Amino acid sequence: MHPADIAAPAPTGADGAKRVLLAAPRGYCAGVDRAVITVEKALELYGPPVYVRKEIVHNKHVVRTLEKRGAIFVDETSEVPEGARVIFSAHGVSPAVHQEARQLSLKTIDATCPLVTKVHREAVRFASDDYDILLVGHEGHEEVEGTAGEAPEHITLVQSPQDVEHVEVRDPEKVVWLSQTTLSVDETMETVRRLREKFPLLQDPPSDDICYATQNRQVAVKQMAAECDLMIVVGSQNSSNSKRLVEVALEYGSRDGHLVDYADEIDKAWLDGVQTVGVTSGASVPEVLVRDVLDWLAERGYADVSAVTAAEESLLFSLPPEIRRDLKAAGQESVKVQHDPGAIPSARKAEGSLR
Ligand code: SF4
Repeated sequence: MHPADIAAPAPTGADGAKRVLLAAPRGYCAGVDRAVITVEKALELYGPPVYVRKEIVHNKHVVRTLEKRGAIFVDETSEVPEGARVIFSAHGVSPAVHQEARQLSLKTIDATCPLVTKVHREAVRFASDDYDILLVGHEGHEEVEGTAGEAPEHITLVQSPQDVEHVEVRDPEKVVWLSQTTLSVDETMETVRRLREKFPLLQDPPSDDICYATQNRQVAVKQMAAECDLMIVVGSQNSSNSKRLVEVALEYGSRDGHLVDYADEIDKAWLDGVQTVGVTSGASVPEVLVRDVLDWLAERGYADVSAVTAAEESLLFSLPPEIRRDLKAAGQESVKVQHDPGAIPSARKAEGSLR
């Protein structure tokens, strides 16, 4: 991240006045929006139940809302009845999961984010050139399992800068690093710096693996953190990019920071002595949940809301080809997916709405 990216000062409030700094961008990215719409469209088109392998995105509210509409979330492909329809989540799956689905004659819709698929392709390409691939990421995260499954013989997971001293490769002249899409940019760069110290010929990925949405949300938090006595990040505990936002906020000067799924999880005691509250949300979080937090804060005197805008986002992804084909056959227009850039709230969206 270039230092200029974090140089813009946040607006200053009047002395002693309570205020909120609201990060932009925040919330849904193009990959999450696409994955959620895929499930919604599948439910409309085929009728419930529609099976979804793993949480479609890592957000409790999204999963609960889709469950109410007839989605059935399973942990393993083997839990899906033979011949049924299953959607793969935005985090991606390994080739072994596709193979298992074929064996069970499942009808699959792959909602893997195209930016995750890009990392899969990089892994396949470097493995076919017989590189050792150092994958920076978190063990057990679905995305890491999916990417590692593309080339298990070639991939070594590196979880932190401290891990680097234990990393071994076959040929230090043929080694490349790739990464999970939702990591802390700063910590990843530190891990890579140490890897390069150890393996000077380490190759970089062809393009950034940490995705635009993860980076932009972190930059916005960096711009406002030093002004904040408290940072509230809306997101779920299993959301990697949301958790990183709390860490980044604390690292860049916010006096306190918490991750909450819902406004009613905010502890009133967190507001003791607080003038400025920062608010943001992870890439899997519907805007309605942020609006609830803003309402909760407004009721306690924090009604003055200013946006801190780090970037404009306009990326669009088409829906997965399987569902586009069926939508077309049903005479429905194909849907492109666009992220809500998250302006200052004007009208509250309907309760329970995901978008
Ligand atoms: S966070 Fe990034 S990689 Fe993950 S779904 Fe969103 S755009 Fe895709």
